[in-house]
Amino acid sequence: MEFCKTLALTLNRINYSNTSQIATFYTLHYGKLQALARGSKRMGKKALGSIDLFSYNEIIFLKKETSQLHLLTEWEVLEGFPAFRKDIERFYSACYVVELLNELSEEGEPDSPLFYLLLDTLFGLSRNDNKDLNLLAFELQLLRHLGYLPELGECTQCGEKFLRNSGAVLSPFRKGLLCKECASDIAGAQVRLRRMPLHLSPAAIGAANFLVDCKRSSLNRLHLPKKVLEELRSLSAEYLSQILDRPIGHWRCLQTIAKI
Ligand SMILES: [Zn+2]
Repeated sequence: MEFCKTLALTLNRINYSNTSQIATFYTLHYGKLQALARGSKRMGKKALGSIDLFSYNEIIFLKKETSQLHLLTEWEVLEGFPAFRKDIERFYSACYVVELLNELSEEGEPDSPLFYLLLDTLFGLSRNDNKDLNLLAFELQLLRHLGYLPELGECTQCGEKFLRNSGAVLSPFRKGLLCKECASDIAGAQVRLRRMPLHLSPAAIGAANFLVDCKRSSLNRLHLPKKVLEELRSLSAEYLSQILDRPIGHWRCLQTIAKI
């Protein structure tokens, strides 16, 4: 057993007893891990305080070799993101991103770009930044980083670059974008299987290419029409539905709130 110190974002936490919690962290150096925080719910002067969802912490834990449940010995909250407790839409947006990352990451596989993607997204969502663009950028960058997002600039079948004035079609068969000519070749098969292709306008393709590479600070300069936002949401949802075998619970909450 060894003591390990790292930066950690809280993906989940459950009560273990009246005084203790089990937290799931996404850490900078050790990837996703679970740790028992003894006494985290205890009150008093010497108590270290409870571990809150989303919190950004510096932690020290005792790494167990024979168990996947490690022992948290010290933690210091660097950012608690209080803004999420004041705005229900931002709260559920943050719930959604940590749940999605929790779902798509494996324990014990460090991935620093993924850690900073989540950290930047939480900071973006906690400010008055555009929530929808933050979520889309997170989804598309996560999908690309994990290798699930295909080439967005050219046809998956014939390799032709998408022209400025031509849109593309997302093929449910080839899991990639097709030019309209290649898409028309498989249209009959799609109709037979009753799976309608997703059409993407040139503006949506351009925006998707921008979002997969952009920094959070440049998101506020981007203004997309509602129709383009909807196309991008459909693109992201299509890929997420291919790799997740169940819908993310907090996405439903977000959709419900948006309709109120
Ligand atoms: Zn083509």
